[in-house]
Amino acid sequence: MVFETFSPQETEAIGENIGKNANKGDIYCLEGDLGTGKTVFTKGFAKGLDIHEHITSPTFNIVNEYYGRLPMYHFDMYRISCVEELDDIGYEEYFFGEGVCLVEWASLVMEAIPSNAKWIRIEKDLEKGLDYRKITID
Ligand code: ADP
Ligand code: MG
Repeated sequence: MVFETFSPQETEAIGENIGKNANKGDIYCLEGDLGTGKTVFTKGFAKGLDIHEHITSPTFNIVNEYYGRLPMYHFDMYRISCVEELDDIGYEEYFFGEGVCLVEWASLVMEAIPSNAKWIRIEKDLEKGLDYRKITID
């Protein structure tokens, strides 16, 4: 499935829709360069789970937890240097737990990502404008 958006709000709305339909145990991996909109998408996704807290990027603590219709575990793997660091935070409790996982930069810890994970790629195309994003969901 491919979506095209022209503002952060539109990307958030797509995230919200997917969040509304998310189920316990779902893992969404978000791929795309810095500043493409992975965290913007996650903000919408959280709304879709009835989470109304402010969503901040978990860059320094790897994972943030939020509680709505289902728990949401928001990972950012950008600063992880090895999969052992994930073991240290007990990541399996999150991946195989009661909630939904959103994982930014999941490809950096590919070995740890379960095969049932869904992949979402966000890309820019400057020819189509600064705020254009192409969102591909596998
Ligand atoms: P990432 O988490 O991928 O590093 P962020 O979500 O933190 O990126 O930031 C994306 C930035 O791009 C935000 O400043 C947002 O306002 C901007 N932006 C512009 N157009 C869009 C769009 N169509 N979708 C998402 N973000 C957009
Ligand atoms: Mg981010």
